[in-house]
Amino acid sequence: MEYFSGHISELIEQLASLPGIGSKTAQRLAFYIISMPVDKVERLSKALVETRKNVHYCKTCCTLTDADECPICSSPKRDHSTIMIVETDRDLAAYEKTGKYEGVYHVLHGAISPMLGIGPDDIKLRELMQRLQSDEVKEVIVATNSSLEGETTAMYISKLIKPTGIKVTRIASGVPVGGDLENIDEVTLLRALEGRVQL
Ligand code: ZN
Repeated sequence: MEYFSGHISELIEQLASLPGIGSKTAQRLAFYIISMPVDKVERLSKALVETRKNVHYCKTCCTLTDADECPICSSPKRDHSTIMIVETDRDLAAYEKTGKYEGVYHVLHGAISPMLGIGPDDIKLRELMQRLQSDEVKEVIVATNSSLEGETTAMYISKLIKPTGIKVTRIASGVPVGGDLENIDEVTLLRALEGRVQL
Protein backbone atom coordinates (compact mmCIF):
# COMPACT_ATOMS: atom_id res chain seq x y z
CA MET A 1 0.00 0.00 0.00
CA GLU A 2 1.22 3.51 -0.83
CA TYR A 3 1.44 5.67 2.28
CA PHE A 4 1.94 8.92 0.45
CA SER A 5 -0.01 10.69 -2.26
CA GLY A 6 1.45 10.90 -5.76
CA HIS A 7 3.12 14.29 -5.38
CA ILE A 8 4.77 13.40 -2.09
CA SER A 9 6.00 10.03 -3.39
CA GLU A 10 7.40 11.70 -6.50
CA LEU A 11 9.26 14.32 -4.44
CA ILE A 12 10.71 11.65 -2.14
CA GLU A 13 11.75 9.57 -5.13
CA GLN A 14 13.47 12.54 -6.82
CA LEU A 15 15.36 13.51 -3.67
CA ALA A 16 16.39 9.91 -3.02
CA SER A 17 17.95 9.76 -6.48
CA LEU A 18 20.62 12.25 -5.35
CA PRO A 19 23.97 10.86 -4.15
CA GLY A 20 24.30 10.38 -0.41
CA ILE A 21 20.57 10.74 0.21
CA GLY A 22 18.87 7.58 1.43
CA SER A 23 15.11 7.08 1.61
CA LYS A 24 14.87 8.29 5.22
CA THR A 25 16.71 11.54 4.49
CA ALA A 26 14.64 11.98 1.33
CA GLN A 27 11.45 11.70 3.39
CA ARG A 28 12.74 14.16 5.95
CA LEU A 29 13.70 16.66 3.24
CA ALA A 30 10.39 16.18 1.41
CA PHE A 31 8.35 16.96 4.52
CA TYR A 32 10.58 19.90 5.30
CA ILE A 33 10.05 21.29 1.79
CA ILE A 34 6.28 20.81 2.16
CA SER A 35 6.39 22.88 5.36
CA MET A 36 8.36 25.73 3.71
CA PRO A 37 6.67 28.95 2.47
CA VAL A 38 5.85 28.65 -1.23
CA ASP A 39 8.09 31.56 -2.23
CA LYS A 40 11.10 29.89 -0.63
CA VAL A 41 10.38 26.65 -2.45
CA GLU A 42 10.09 28.61 -5.68
CA ARG A 43 13.51 30.18 -5.08
CA LEU A 44 14.99 26.75 -4.42
CA SER A 45 13.51 25.20 -7.54
CA LYS A 46 14.52 28.23 -9.62
CA ALA A 47 18.08 27.97 -8.34
CA LEU A 48 18.18 24.31 -9.35
CA VAL A 49 16.85 24.88 -12.86
CA GLU A 50 18.77 28.11 -13.56
CA THR A 51 22.07 26.66 -12.35
CA ARG A 52 21.61 23.55 -14.41
CA LYS A 53 20.69 25.57 -17.52
CA ASN A 54 23.32 28.29 -17.27
CA VAL A 55 26.38 26.50 -16.00
CA HIS A 56 28.66 25.00 -18.63
CA TYR A 57 32.32 24.20 -19.16
CA CYS A 58 34.84 27.05 -19.24
CA LYS A 59 36.05 27.26 -22.85
CA THR A 60 39.66 27.14 -21.66
CA CYS A 61 39.98 24.89 -18.61
CA CYS A 62 36.67 22.97 -18.68
CA THR A 63 35.72 23.84 -15.11
CA LEU A 64 32.04 24.62 -14.53
CA THR A 65 31.16 28.29 -14.83
CA ASP A 66 28.37 30.73 -15.82
CA ALA A 67 30.54 32.76 -18.17
CA ASP A 68 32.42 31.91 -21.35
CA GLU A 69 35.62 31.74 -19.37
CA CYS A 70 35.91 31.05 -15.63
CA PRO A 71 37.24 33.69 -13.19
CA ILE A 72 40.59 31.89 -12.87
CA CYS A 73 41.26 31.67 -16.62
CA SER A 74 40.24 35.27 -17.17
CA SER A 75 42.37 36.63 -14.32
CA PRO A 76 45.54 38.47 -15.38
CA LYS A 77 46.93 37.84 -11.89
CA ARG A 78 47.23 34.08 -12.46
CA ASP A 79 50.30 32.44 -13.94
CA HIS A 80 49.01 31.13 -17.27
CA SER A 81 52.25 29.28 -18.02
CA THR A 82 51.54 26.66 -15.33
CA ILE A 83 48.56 24.34 -15.71
CA MET A 84 47.48 21.97 -12.96
CA ILE A 85 45.46 19.00 -14.18
CA VAL A 86 42.77 17.79 -11.76
CA GLU A 87 40.02 15.21 -12.07
CA THR A 88 37.07 17.25 -10.80
CA ASP A 89 35.88 20.74 -9.96
CA ARG A 90 35.98 19.72 -6.30
CA ASP A 91 39.72 19.02 -6.58
CA LEU A 92 40.20 22.47 -8.09
CA ALA A 93 38.30 23.95 -5.15
CA ALA A 94 40.55 22.06 -2.71
CA TYR A 95 43.69 23.61 -4.24
CA GLU A 96 42.09 27.04 -4.43
CA LYS A 97 41.32 26.81 -0.72
CA THR A 98 45.05 26.62 0.05
CA GLY A 99 45.35 30.09 -1.53
CA LYS A 100 48.95 29.29 -2.50
CA TYR A 101 48.64 28.04 -6.05
CA GLU A 102 48.95 30.84 -8.61
CA GLY A 103 48.76 28.93 -11.86
CA VAL A 104 45.68 27.90 -13.79
CA TYR A 105 43.89 24.54 -14.03
CA HIS A 106 42.55 21.98 -16.42
CA VAL A 107 39.62 19.85 -15.25
CA LEU A 108 39.41 16.40 -16.82
CA HIS A 109 35.98 15.48 -15.46
CA GLY A 110 37.06 11.95 -14.71
CA ALA A 111 40.01 9.61 -15.01
CA ILE A 112 40.93 6.82 -17.38
CA SER A 113 39.51 3.52 -16.13
CA PRO A 114 39.72 0.47 -18.39
CA MET A 115 37.59 -1.42 -15.83
CA LEU A 116 34.73 1.07 -16.10
CA GLY A 117 35.24 1.48 -19.83
CA ILE A 118 36.38 5.11 -19.51
CA GLY A 119 39.02 5.86 -22.13
CA PRO A 120 41.13 8.93 -22.98
CA ASP A 121 38.37 10.24 -25.28
CA ASP A 122 35.86 10.26 -22.43
CA ILE A 123 37.73 12.88 -20.39
CA LYS A 124 38.80 16.41 -21.37
CA LEU A 125 42.18 15.46 -22.82
CA ARG A 126 41.63 16.71 -26.35
CA GLU A 127 40.83 20.15 -24.91
CA LEU A 128 44.05 19.99 -22.89
CA MET A 129 46.21 19.15 -25.90
CA GLN A 130 44.65 22.00 -27.86
CA ARG A 131 45.53 24.33 -25.04
CA LEU A 132 49.13 23.19 -24.96
CA GLN A 133 49.66 24.30 -28.53
CA SER A 134 50.06 27.84 -27.29
CA ASP A 135 53.72 28.45 -26.48
CA GLU A 136 52.77 30.17 -23.26
CA VAL A 137 52.65 26.89 -21.29
CA LYS A 138 55.87 25.98 -19.50
CA GLU A 139 54.78 23.39 -16.94
CA VAL A 140 51.94 20.93 -16.55
CA ILE A 141 51.37 19.62 -13.03
CA VAL A 142 49.46 16.35 -12.99
CA ALA A 143 47.36 16.36 -9.81
CA THR A 144 45.07 13.43 -10.52
CA ASN A 145 44.22 11.25 -7.50
CA SER A 146 46.64 8.56 -6.36
CA SER A 147 44.08 5.85 -7.12
CA LEU A 148 44.76 3.29 -9.86
CA GLU A 149 42.68 5.40 -12.28
CA GLY A 150 44.48 8.60 -11.27
CA GLU A 151 47.91 7.00 -11.77
CA THR A 152 46.90 5.47 -15.09
CA THR A 153 45.70 8.89 -16.24
CA ALA A 154 48.91 10.58 -15.03
CA MET A 155 51.05 8.10 -16.98
CA TYR A 156 48.95 8.53 -20.09
CA ILE A 157 49.15 12.33 -19.89
CA SER A 158 52.89 12.26 -19.33
CA LYS A 159 53.40 10.14 -22.47
CA LEU A 160 51.09 12.42 -24.42
CA ILE A 161 52.82 15.65 -23.42
CA LYS A 162 56.48 14.57 -23.43
CA PRO A 163 56.94 14.97 -27.21
CA THR A 164 55.87 18.62 -26.94
CA GLY A 165 58.89 19.40 -24.74
CA ILE A 166 56.69 20.95 -22.03
CA LYS A 167 57.81 20.06 -18.49
CA VAL A 168 55.44 17.53 -16.87
CA THR A 169 55.43 17.08 -13.09
CA ARG A 170 53.39 14.90 -10.73
CA ILE A 171 52.33 15.96 -7.23
CA ALA A 172 54.23 14.10 -4.51
CA SER A 173 52.88 10.87 -3.08
CA GLY A 174 52.16 12.55 0.26
CA VAL A 175 48.58 12.20 -0.86
CA PRO A 176 47.32 8.90 0.57
CA VAL A 177 46.74 6.12 -1.94
CA GLY A 178 43.14 6.04 -3.12
CA GLY A 179 42.58 9.37 -1.42
CA ASP A 180 40.18 11.83 -2.92
CA LEU A 181 41.96 15.17 -3.19
CA GLU A 182 39.01 17.10 -1.81
CA ASN A 183 39.16 15.24 1.50
CA ILE A 184 42.81 15.99 2.13
CA ASP A 185 43.83 18.87 4.38
CA GLU A 186 45.46 21.97 2.96
CA VAL A 187 48.91 21.36 4.47
CA THR A 188 49.13 17.93 2.86
CA LEU A 189 47.97 19.37 -0.46
CA LEU A 190 50.61 22.10 -0.35
CA ARG A 191 53.32 19.61 0.57
CA ALA A 192 52.25 17.41 -2.33
CA LEU A 193 52.41 20.39 -4.67
CA GLU A 194 55.79 21.64 -3.42
CA GLY A 195 57.30 18.14 -3.54
CA ARG A 196 56.22 17.47 -7.11
CA VAL A 197 58.60 15.48 -9.26
CA GLN A 198 59.30 15.57 -12.95
CA LEU A 199 57.77 12.74 -14.97
ZN1 ZN B 1 38.67 28.28 -16.91
